[in-house]
Parts: sequence; C-alpha cells; structure tokens
Amino acid sequence: MMVREALAMAARRVGRLEAEVLLSHLLACSRGDLVLRPERVVDLGAFEPMLARRELGEPVAYITGEREFWSLPLRVTPDVLIPRPDSETLVEAALQGRFARVLDLGTGSGALLLAVLSERPQATGVGVDASAAALEVARGNAAALGLGDSAVFRLGDWGAELDERFDLILCNPPYVEADAVLSVEVRDFEPGAALFAGADGLDDYRRLVPQLPGLLAPDGVAVLEIGWKQADAVLALAAAEGLAGEVRQDLAGRDRALVLRTI
Ligand code: GLN
Repeated sequence: MMVREALAMAARRVGRLEAEVLLSHLLACSRGDLVLRPERVVDLGAFEPMLARRELGEPVAYITGEREFWSLPLRVTPDVLIPRPDSETLVEAALQGRFARVLDLGTGSGALLLAVLSERPQATGVGVDASAAALEVARGNAAALGLGDSAVFRLGDWGAELDERFDLILCNPPYVEADAVLSVEVRDFEPGAALFAGADGLDDYRRLVPQLPGLLAPDGVAVLEIGWKQADAVLALAAAEGLAGEVRQDLAGRDRALVLRTI
C-alpha cells in the first residue's frame, strides 16, 4: 500500500492527525513529507499493529515513544506520564525568576527540569523520582538533549533524602482524586502512581509541601502543578508551612500552578 492509501485508511480509523503522526513516525519522516511523497510504500505489517494499539486506547505518545514538551523532543514510555501542554505553565512561571540550582520533584520523563535547563545554560539541577524506570527515561532524555552534564537524577521519596537548598523547585505531583472519571487513554495506560493521590487528590501535597521550607534557598521559589480546583486547599497547606503563594492559569484559563515563596 502507498502512503496516500495508508493515510486514508488510517484516518478513517484514528483520525487524520493521529494517522499522520503514526505514519510519519513509522517512516521516520516529517508529516509534510507524507504529502510530498504520497507514493512511498508503507509496510502494513508494521503500520497495522500501531493502528490496532491506538484503537484500543493507547496514547499515540506511547506508540511512537515520543512527545514534544516546550519544543523539546522527549522520549516517553508507560513508566512516565506523557508531558501535557498545561505543564508549560510551570516552565513559564519558573523562567520569570533567576536561579542557579534547580530541583524537580517527581521528574518523570524529566520534562520540567530539562525545559528549564534548556533555557538557562548556566543552571544545573537534580531530578528526583520514586520510580527507577522513570529515572532511566529522564537520564536518556537529558543525554539526548545535551543536558547530561547539567542534570542528575536520583531515586527518592520526594525531597526526603536531599540535604541541599535550591533556588527553584519544580513539582508536578500526582493530584487526581482516586475516583475521578478519566479517559481510557489516561486511566488504562498512564502510570497510576503519577496520577492518583488519595480520595481528594491532596495526599502527595500533604507530604511534600512540609518539605519545601527545608529545601528552598532564602530567595527561592517553588512552582507546583495543581488540579484546577485545588488552589485554595494547597495554598492553605503552604500557609501552614510559612509559604505564601500566587496562582497561575493554564491556556484554558484554569488554575494550574502555584508559585510559593518563604514569607
Ligand atoms: N493533568 C493530568 C491529568 O489530568 C494529571 C497530572 C497529575 O496528576 N500530575 O491527566
């Protein structure tokens, strides 16, 4: 089958955009190249299983093993959350300040840490995760982006094992309520440990927010991702630890991040 027919067939099954993303990945070309070379031959034996996986609900990023975040190509596996455009809100907030040392708690693919370091060549950072498999993905991403000397990755229970203070702390913890209604793509394929945080989604904030005062340098800031209805609850947890915060909104205008400072 040729590209033209393969695209038409796949578009009927998974939609045009995803058909193009999957086929361009298979052919190791850009989506534009698909249009330029419609007569190129497609190996259906390889393409068909990709479509079948997508039809069962598997996210495109896990099928291709890649997703862009902050314009950086990242490798992703089912061991890590797929980076969301909404999380770029945290990168924007972080880049408004000055920092030399960065900590990313629950780094996953390394997305937040690597995005920030890619913008500040002098800065260095530590990514912590409770999953050794996730740390392997993050290390691979750092190396592939030429940031292998700027970022180190460590196994850890949030910041409990660290004895250093940081100018910038980034954290996208699990914050989804245990009984939240999620799409099949998320609930059945993404790592539950990176998503769910107890009945009200606040369990991990309850553990990590009290660690922040001991991890922040005197003028440091912590930028936390939150669920869109969690700003007040997490600000209250922060206030109890002597931290004051501002709320930042995502592209949809919903509360998405808190910027916390020691009072
Ligand atoms: N924003 C993600 C979602 O709703 C959740 C990410 C997280 O729990 N950190 O799928």
